[in-house]
Amino acid sequence: MAGLPIRAHLSVGLLVVYMLWSMGHLGWGLYLAAVLLASILLHELAHSAVAIAFGGRVVSIELQLLGGAAMISRLPPRAWQETLMALAGPACSLALAAALLFGSVALGREVFDPWSQRVMVEANPYLAMAGFLNLGLGCFNLIPAFPMDGGRVLRSALECFGLGKLRATTVAVRVGQGIAVLWAGLWALSFLTGVEVPCPDAVTGFGAYLWELVFGVRSLLMPLIAYMIWVVGRRELAYVRATTAMGAWR
Ligand SMILES: [Zn+2]
Repeated sequence: MAGLPIRAHLSVGLLVVYMLWSMGHLGWGLYLAAVLLASILLHELAHSAVAIAFGGRVVSIELQLLGGAAMISRLPPRAWQETLMALAGPACSLALAAALLFGSVALGREVFDPWSQRVMVEANPYLAMAGFLNLGLGCFNLIPAFPMDGGRVLRSALECFGLGKLRATTVAVRVGQGIAVLWAGLWALSFLTGVEVPCPDAVTGFGAYLWELVFGVRSLLMPLIAYMIWVVGRRELAYVRATTAMGAWR
């Protein structure tokens, strides 16, 4: 796309299989998998566009089982530019979510509700689901923990406030690991007591499904993400430590 290679890892096939299995419906499963991949692609394109605009270099965009990544070989030179680059993805997802959710109501159909004796608007389910997916994608990525965009936003924002790269990375990684421990602890507590984080009444349908996926005891997503945050944070810190030490040695 515009000279930028877009690659899909084989594990994307697993994502499609998972969507089919969890939705229990061929049409919906394929639709959701397609929407999710398109949403991730647009999210990564937003990161890439801002990175390139600020003089960074993007090698390719990779789609994988747990999301996507813009492979950036050269970051924009200034910290505030990196902040904007990291914010561009979630901003794109949230803007898409707003447009899709608005569209789902605008294109909804009027149905007569016998309980309240009133005519209600039933949102268009296709647009609503796509909207909720993008809302989830945007919010999830704003969690201030590596490898989510929020971690990068926090680190570069700290650099804007005058912290060195190593200090800023250390703080950002520790914040992320704190969140990971809290998240895993919450899941373990739910697992042991059987009490789950209650889903607010306002969240229904597909939103409730996403809620269950994130906070449910049966869902292994929570401990998996907590583990991923822990490992990726540690690796990021080790990498910055090594490059800082090499810079000092040179
Ligand atoms: Zn992102």
